[in-house]
Amino acid sequence: MALKDLFTKNQPKKKKYATIPTETAKSDVPEGIMTKCPSCKKIMYTKELLKNTKVCLHCGFHFQMNAKERIDSFIDEGSFVEINENMVSENPLNFPDYLEKLEKDRQKSKLNEAVVTGMGKVNGQKIVLAIMDASFRMGSMGSVVGEKITLAIEKADELSLPFIIFTASGGARMQEGALSLMQMAKTSVALKRFSNNGGLIISIMTHPTTGGVSASFASLGDYNFAEPGALIAFAGRRVIEQSIREELPEDFQTAEFLLKHGQLDAIISRIDLVEKITNILEIHQPGGEIEW
Ligand SMILES: [Zn+2]
Repeated sequence: MALKDLFTKNQPKKKKYATIPTETAKSDVPEGIMTKCPSCKKIMYTKELLKNTKVCLHCGFHFQMNAKERIDSFIDEGSFVEINENMVSENPLNFPDYLEKLEKDRQKSKLNEAVVTGMGKVNGQKIVLAIMDASFRMGSMGSVVGEKITLAIEKADELSLPFIIFTASGGARMQEGALSLMQMAKTSVALKRFSNNGGLIISIMTHPTTGGVSASFASLGDYNFAEPGALIAFAGRRVIEQSIREELPEDFQTAEFLLKHGQLDAIISRIDLVEKITNILEIHQPGGEIEW
């Protein structure tokens, strides 16, 4: 008998059924002081990771950011002014437990909805901004998300400022059915009007940008960018494989794959983001000079 059997013999057998790992369960390092990178598995000080805009110090893996972290890392300090922050969802289809779920997410995320909108400055240049936050209903697009984004686009139009959106979404919000899907059309029309009036649209897709969001405003920028490694997809891999009866390539639906196939203009590391966006904003200023 091997020595290890002495300790394992009477242990209950491991349960065979699959479990879905939660964010905290994925890492075997206690949350707080240290953070383990899910990509390279190296451990680093959380403080240093945060200082590095949540980009792994070893391999460049981009951890997910919430809206507040995004504002702190992207917008000039103290320049952000939020708009429509108190808009909240109703339960138009009387979907069971929807209002309770919204309330729970409000408490957990400290947000009223899955998108934060407002005005701010990037290196001194004024912009209108929308940032989706996956910690609220997985960033799903309900009517309030669509309405807030539309109002932000209209604000950019009114003020003649560039519109920048960071997307992160699981797609349409099932509890709002067709009303959720209608947001695709509404936001797209608002962007088209803005564009016709000469507005500049920059979309930055972050992990994950999927479903109706990827199929509407996320992909309608004058510039469509993504963060490294971001999952960007309309339907899930399995659904596509089953319908076309073909195996898809390993990197299918990653930002890198989409860049190779022409759906993205560039992949920009978060480390360089402010500088590159500043350059683009300068190019589009009257008399701007190109420096890339
Ligand atoms: Zn790493």
